[in-house]
Amino acid sequence: MYFFDPHIHIASRTTDDLETLAKMGCLVVGEPAFWMGYDRSGVNSFCDYYRHLTEWEPKRCAQFGLRHYAWLGLNAKEAENVAFAREVIAELPKFLERPNALGIGEIGLHKCTKNEVTTLLELIELAKKTDEQMLFHTPHLEDKYKGTRMILDMLRADSRIDRSRVCIDHCEEHTIRGALDEGYWAGITLYPTTKATPERAADMIEIYGPERILVNSSADWGPSRPSAVPDFILVMRRRGFSEGVIRQVVYDNPLSFFNQSRHFQFTPPD
Ligand SMILES: [Zn+2]
Repeated sequence: MYFFDPHIHIASRTTDDLETLAKMGCLVVGEPAFWMGYDRSGVNSFCDYYRHLTEWEPKRCAQFGLRHYAWLGLNAKEAENVAFAREVIAELPKFLERPNALGIGEIGLHKCTKNEVTTLLELIELAKKTDEQMLFHTPHLEDKYKGTRMILDMLRADSRIDRSRVCIDHCEEHTIRGALDEGYWAGITLYPTTKATPERAADMIEIYGPERILVNSSADWGPSRPSAVPDFILVMRRRGFSEGVIRQVVYDNPLSFFNQSRHFQFTPPD
């Protein structure tokens, strides 16, 4: 079955992984900007990374027939210094014009501090000004519920937000309902240990249905699997879901969501 991996950190994966993705039926990958494992030393370091995501990774993916799209933004871990973050945000508009730019992401909260909130509001402001889609990272473990709630509250307070162009990612059992009920897309990350497993994602689809749900590997430097979406497909088949429902989650939904970005161009295979 063809699928998208709408959230994967290709820069941290090998060509073997790209080949595996292609062989399994992946057609399109979405790569959000993230924290690379160390704090960047200056604004130029961010610009180099944005070039990496918009120039180099699309070429690497194209060798395996994968279409590469990127989300550009500033991770909450690097949002604490508001003045520095503001300088980085000022560089974003020119990269958002790149042909593989999908929108602003992944942005959000990490420790849910006041400064993170200030930076996040500036990123949301930019998205409104430039009419970009947004991809939100929600915090880990004990901060997950609180951080997701805070993000939803911030978005609700802004009447200009088109919720059908926003994805709340890394949803789990206790946060997915809020995202869906308020009209957002909900991303579920399939990790071997933390976040959600393919089985837990299937549970959530049994409860909430397949509408506006995206599943992704978020594969990066840590324990994660480029085969996560196919693993999910297998779990869904074993549960007896129809091929139509499975395809909706792994292909039709990400296609509809990405299609709202002005740069997204994709011709489905015959
Ligand atoms: Zn990520």
